[in-house]
Amino acid sequence: MIEQLSVGGASLYLTQVERGTSPLRDNYGLHVGDDAALVLQRRAALAQGVGRPLLWMDQTHSARVALVRRSEGGFEGDGGGEVTIDAETLRLSASAVQEWPALPCDGVVVDARRWREAPAIAVMTADCMPILFSADEGRVVAAVHAGRIGFEAGILLRALEIFQALGVAVDEISIYIAPAICGHCYEVPAQMRESAAKAHPYIAGNTRWGTPSLDLPRAAAAQLAQAGCAQVSIDGRCTLEEVQWHSHRRDPRSGRQAAIIVPT
Ligand SMILES: [Zn+2]
Repeated sequence: MIEQLSVGGASLYLTQVERGTSPLRDNYGLHVGDDAALVLQRRAALAQGVGRPLLWMDQTHSARVALVRRSEGGFEGDGGGEVTIDAETLRLSASAVQEWPALPCDGVVVDARRWREAPAIAVMTADCMPILFSADEGRVVAAVHAGRIGFEAGILLRALEIFQALGVAVDEISIYIAPAICGHCYEVPAQMRESAAKAHPYIAGNTRWGTPSLDLPRAAAAQLAQAGCAQVSIDGRCTLEEVQWHSHRRDPRSGRQAAIIVPT
């Protein structure tokens, strides 16, 4: 099943897990031991449903965010795109962008202004936060994979910097923190909670059973608000508690769901 929502004028799709017993059912990850041909089939069906090429990431809990936009100069008008990660830029022709390569990063900003062929972005999770950004009525969008490590490494602030470099003010960005493990379920050692809370006071939580936890959605929302974001919402559904989501904590053999943001 695929749930459709919207954020700041952009369409947002959340894949969900049907009833069943295989931990890899409705899985979109290529790195979790599933049959690759089956996963590619599911991804192709998803792209068709969304009506755009899908851009996936090779996610590694980094703080790297790519900027994807229409090529200027020699490629102008051919529908091609270019990808900038850190200081490096890669140009792709129009035929190449029908089938985007997986990008080595954990976040992507797509500037779809004056670019009809712009791809939608897919982020895979199974407890980590999928965070979706939309500005200029959905013409500039982003998807970020943020678990504890990426969040602490500053991936959300990096995404905001790219929006600002594109001339978008942070208070004009609508941000949606999609289903992730909640602060009452994400148990961690006391030492880890203590050191995380030094930089992010809102991250410290307690599980329902009274042990130390991290509240990643709350910490992310607090960080974004402090950075000047005025439109941040938390979905609030918990991947560990609700069986329509993959949860790595509930089952380490689990697959990955996808959250897709489609530019206008
Ligand atoms: Zn929970």
